[in-house]
Amino acid sequence: MNVILRMLVDGDTGSTSDWDDRWNHIKKFLERSGPFMHPDFEPSTESLQFMLETCKILVIGAGGLGCELLKNLALSGFRNIHVVDMDTIDVSNLNRQFLFRAKDVGRPKADVAADFINSQFHIIVCGLDSIVARRWMNGMLEHILNLSLLVYEDGVLDPSSIIPLIDGGTEGFKGNARVIFPGMTACIDCTLELYPPQINFPMCTIASMPRLPEHCIEYVRILLWPKEMPFGDDVSLDGDDPEHIQWVYQKSLERAAEFSITGVTYRLTQGVVKRIIPAVASTNAAIAAACATEVFKIASSAYLPLNNYMVFNDVDGLYTYTFEAERKENCSACSQVPSDLHFSPSSKLQEVLDYLTESTSVQMKSPAITTTMDGKNKTLYLQVINLPFKLGLADGQELAVADVTTPQTVLFKLCFTS
Ligand SMILES: [Zn+2]
Repeated sequence: MNVILRMLVDGDTGSTSDWDDRWNHIKKFLERSGPFMHPDFEPSTESLQFMLETCKILVIGAGGLGCELLKNLALSGFRNIHVVDMDTIDVSNLNRQFLFRAKDVGRPKADVAADFINSQFHIIVCGLDSIVARRWMNGMLEHILNLSLLVYEDGVLDPSSIIPLIDGGTEGFKGNARVIFPGMTACIDCTLELYPPQINFPMCTIASMPRLPEHCIEYVRILLWPKEMPFGDDVSLDGDDPEHIQWVYQKSLERAAEFSITGVTYRLTQGVVKRIIPAVASTNAAIAAACATEVFKIASSAYLPLNNYMVFNDVDGLYTYTFEAERKENCSACSQVPSDLHFSPSSKLQEVLDYLTESTSVQMKSPAITTTMDGKNKTLYLQVINLPFKLGLADGQELAVADVTTPQTVLFKLCFTS
């Protein structure tokens, strides 16, 4: 499936539909000098020309944040905008669907995507609500780096060969905007601790010690629905079916009454079932504006970009804070160093799997582990997860882990603790 859409921006057809002074608001930033101008920048008409005619931008995400971004970019003078709408992409299918065409069949997927991005785009902007998709994109840009498509001169990275990634994210009243220069500044995985993992309530709480209205709804969704199958044996819970939600809502009310918990509403029920955090238009607008401003600064090279992470919060009043996120030395996405996994020789493979999914710095979804034994690649199958490492894994053994959060295999080194 080809999910890349070329956005038609006014003036894109080759005819010059620009009226006089159309870009005056932009020219003020680019054709005269000012106190915050980049020290190496010479005001001229060339920057605007580059933006209007040459600069190609890939925008990932066309939801609330993505659409706001597209509008801002178009009004800033960018005309070569390509859009990937992640709504049509199942995260579990990212590797199969994203950026591929028929002619690419048989080529390593990550290489195809790397070629595509590298040959086409000057800047990539992410306006996604899925952290998994953002991490995958981040891994792709780091992969481009690893393929040595970036130009090094005397060991120093040539900045012009870098494709900057501007990443915006919002969740309700909270948002962030950040600028990533792959290979130079912190990538998304370097700062994974900043993204809280999706909240899943412990099963024992749901089953026997509910305290929140959400616990009651989760009880009905996870335990009661499969047991009672209220709409027939093969009918799974559909968050868009009002009758289903009504049933879950009523049962959740009963459960809540039993434990004297208040706050279960129809709306909350639907929110929990569909895992929705309501979008807030003003948060999207603020983050999209910050991201578009960074694209403008970088594309024109007239101003210094954000360094490099801005958080925004309008839950209680209004709060913004900017800091420089630092690269993580053993980042699984942007460093070549395998991370150490510390386990005792009697640990079970299940413990490794648990660590990979639960650790805030790794946060994988469904890791598949392979390793090399006697010169042969071996998949560590789920059947053996309860056996201790005795089956042949040794201290210092390298484990290769594949997961939907990354287009590449991530290397870990097993370090036995005594
Ligand atoms: Zn990193």
